[in-house]
Amino acid sequence: MTRLKANALLLMAALIWGSAFVGQSLGMATVGPLSFTALRFALGAAVVAPLAWLEWRKLRAEGRSPGWAEAVWVVALGSLLCIGVVMQQIGLVTTSVTNAGFLTALYVPLVPLLSWLVKRESPHWMVWPAAAGCLAGTWLLTGASMQTLSTGDVWVMLSALPWAVHVLLVGQVANRLRGAFLLSCGQFAVCAMFSAGLALGTEALTVEGLVAASGAIVYTGVLSVGVAFTLQVVGQRHAPPADAAIILSSETLFAALFGAWWMGDRLTASGLAGCALILACIVAVQIFFATLAAANPQPASELEYTSVFELLAAVLLSAQATDVSVNKATRRLFALASTPQSMLALGEAAVAEQIRTIGLYRNKAKHLIQTCRILVEQHGGQVPRNREALEALPGVGRKTANVVLNVAFGEPTNPVDTHVFRICNRSGLAPGKTPQAVEKQLDKRVPLAYRRDAHHWLILHGRYVCTARSPKCSDCAVRAWCDTGAAGLKR
Ligand code: SF4
Repeated sequence: MTRLKANALLLMAALIWGSAFVGQSLGMATVGPLSFTALRFALGAAVVAPLAWLEWRKLRAEGRSPGWAEAVWVVALGSLLCIGVVMQQIGLVTTSVTNAGFLTALYVPLVPLLSWLVKRESPHWMVWPAAAGCLAGTWLLTGASMQTLSTGDVWVMLSALPWAVHVLLVGQVANRLRGAFLLSCGQFAVCAMFSAGLALGTEALTVEGLVAASGAIVYTGVLSVGVAFTLQVVGQRHAPPADAAIILSSETLFAALFGAWWMGDRLTASGLAGCALILACIVAVQIFFATLAAANPQPASELEYTSVFELLAAVLLSAQATDVSVNKATRRLFALASTPQSMLALGEAAVAEQIRTIGLYRNKAKHLIQTCRILVEQHGGQVPRNREALEALPGVGRKTANVVLNVAFGEPTNPVDTHVFRICNRSGLAPGKTPQAVEKQLDKRVPLAYRRDAHHWLILHGRYVCTARSPKCSDCAVRAWCDTGAAGLKR
């Protein structure tokens, strides 16, 4: 899929989510907020169910079926989703579509703030002005006067809290479950069930009301919950993350647009300024990676490989060696042997001979041959898509496993090499005393949209700009958001 098509899918998802605020508002004229939520999420779960079923079969065939622990996490996420959606839905009874669209987006700066409050992990300094800007934007949006803040506005603002907790957890659960559609289908179903349970005792549902709201339920259920999510998943597989983050943020603009078109919402000058400020802050909290992404939209490893096995072998050989030297050696080696079987047949002595130009070549040849033997004997000659199995291979540590999981299998891991370790500590992006501590910080601080490519940007930035001995701070694109660079700017 081309970048243009992927961006078009993401734009479509943002448009559907933005327009869905109108459907959510209109649908509640004849159906209560809890019943409306239950019905549209049940419909969304049904739309995603076939894809979730295919994912389940694939995981089962690979021996990685989710267990009870994963089921508990899905229920927890579904509950958070339910609380967020129901609060937003109740808010929509008395607030405007435009306000709801923008106020919901408050969860973006709230995520790192919560991380700091609950986990005592200080976010990047840029988060504080962004959070303050969002609050100021909210005040402007609601008429620059606390007296005009409606009950509905407060409900929607409060709904940002469960959304933020949901965002904090969803990445970890998705990594654990390894099935995006499975997680979505499960949490949509849980959200539908809980909302239905609450609606049974509190709301009356009439056939006439249901018929009148059916269009809105189908639109928000099938399109907003089911289809838009699928578009996002597919689009983000192919679109550069910077494009994805910016395009998906446009959901709020579409909400305002559809609010004006369908509902006759009109924004005052202060409201428009508030919209602009909130949108600027949403982008600002992601600015570090957005800046790196703008300079290099589609970063890639500089190691040469044509298969997952060649990638694993190249990364294994790259410890304490430059990518250029590894590529020179692997060009010779892979021409002779490009599979675990052929590498085993080549033998340790011949492998060592081919890679003798890189450091520690004897040990690396030994590890590569031992790794090939395990791949052939225990994994059918395939590289396993599993951290434990990867780290059990000789010469494969956490960083190599992370690179293979990220680059070959598309998992949002954050491998930390010497460049990433240096730049994270220097810039204050993710400080830590050990590579694992830095990786833990990155897992929490890299916005979801940037997870796939973050380590590429950091490695390339560390290799060519933020170099070990003499960082080129004056030419650095992220200087304004870097602790070291900002200190230099002040001097
Ligand atoms: S400003 Fe200097 S220290 Fe900071 S990331 Fe850029 S090059 Fe590195």
